[in-house]
Amino acid sequence: MQTTCLFPHNCTLHDLQEFNNATYRAVNLRNFETADMACRLFRFIARVLFHVRSEATEKSGYHLCMALSWLLAIANRLDLKLKEEIPLHCSVSTSPETTLAELQRIFSDRHRDTALEKASLCVAQKAMGIASALEYFRETHRDDYFVALSKKVAETFEAICVLAGLLGIELHNELLIHFARGCCKCKGTPCSCGFRDDRVV
Ligand SMILES: [Zn+2]
Repeated sequence: MQTTCLFPHNCTLHDLQEFNNATYRAVNLRNFETADMACRLFRFIARVLFHVRSEATEKSGYHLCMALSWLLAIANRLDLKLKEEIPLHCSVSTSPETTLAELQRIFSDRHRDTALEKASLCVAQKAMGIASALEYFRETHRDDYFVALSKKVAETFEAICVLAGLLGIELHNELLIHFARGCCKCKGTPCSCGFRDDRVV
């Protein structure tokens, strides 16, 4: 039986966020606070860092896609439009038609001389920056902390693109492997599993 691919081919940032919204908005609203989603992001990034440290990166594509998925979910929860935040915070010109594949190429070219270890540290630093900004913003609701939070979300996206490139992973193709039919676990859009048994393995 032929299965329908729900993941947008040649997807743009807008497509990515819309796909994540259609698939996970309802379960995320029910199950996760923003800080919970940030923890999920950190867990998958930690797994990639472990792979890099132990020089066994065969499964890093999946974990990077999961990290990206949680990053998109955080952006959606905060009502951040990555197509606007990334040009603003990552010094890159994009159009509404710019695809994920094109963006990954731009970011990879920009950091082509960066070592794998340094790129890994960069992902960790940017994502931890989300934790700091999120905590400050939740305590104060100050606009400058929200801007800092938006900046860290955009920079984490760039850092994930760069690290994926250094690992030989094309994010768009890797996302197609895991999300072609919707949720990577229950294969539904919307997701019906709610990631209740979401162990990082
Ligand atoms: Zn699911």
